[in-house]
Amino acid sequence: MIEIDENALIRCPVCEAVNISTGDETLCHRCGSRISNQKSSTQKAWAYLITAIIAYIPANLYPMLITKQFGMIEGSTILGGVVTLWEHGSYPIAAIIFFASIVIPVMKFLILIYLLISVKYPIGKDKKVDKHKLYYMTEAVGPWSMIDVFVVAILAALIHLANVEIVAGTAATAFAISVFFTLLAAHAFDERLIK
Ligand SMILES: [Zn+2]
Repeated sequence: MIEIDENALIRCPVCEAVNISTGDETLCHRCGSRISNQKSSTQKAWAYLITAIIAYIPANLYPMLITKQFGMIEGSTILGGVVTLWEHGSYPIAAIIFFASIVIPVMKFLILIYLLISVKYPIGKDKKVDKHKLYYMTEAVGPWSMIDVFVVAILAALIHLANVEIVAGTAATAFAISVFFTLLAAHAFDERLIK
């Protein structure tokens, strides 16, 4: 009888065929799709997630909006913008921006960190945390994080008429990069690893 290491068996995510892992990447013997092994998918997810977190720092420190009015240039950060909007009584917009650019991204970072750690260490095994649900949450809210960039674009278009020039600051680029890499991290995360 041939002994097969049980850990070397991997399932093809496309056609469900069972394959024997041959290193970092195995080609499915039935349908030919690439199957990355669990270790490399976790490493990829960590790398993307760390990139996303690093990009999130300048997204909060640099101005998101730069307004030019009568030769005066003024920049405001995400949090500064939220405070200004709140003070001007634009509560719904302030709340949307606060959720989309602070609550949701930070929540996603924490969920992904938690999932990635729980893959390696047996945390939360006995607790009734539905990790699959957590994972789908990060996938589902992904595109909504970009609402912030949309708001900047819309404001820029609207206020342009009122003799005030608004341009997206460095933070907008950093924020978009952060959202993008969070999406990649969630995508790279191998859902099959959730126990
Ligand atoms: Zn296959």
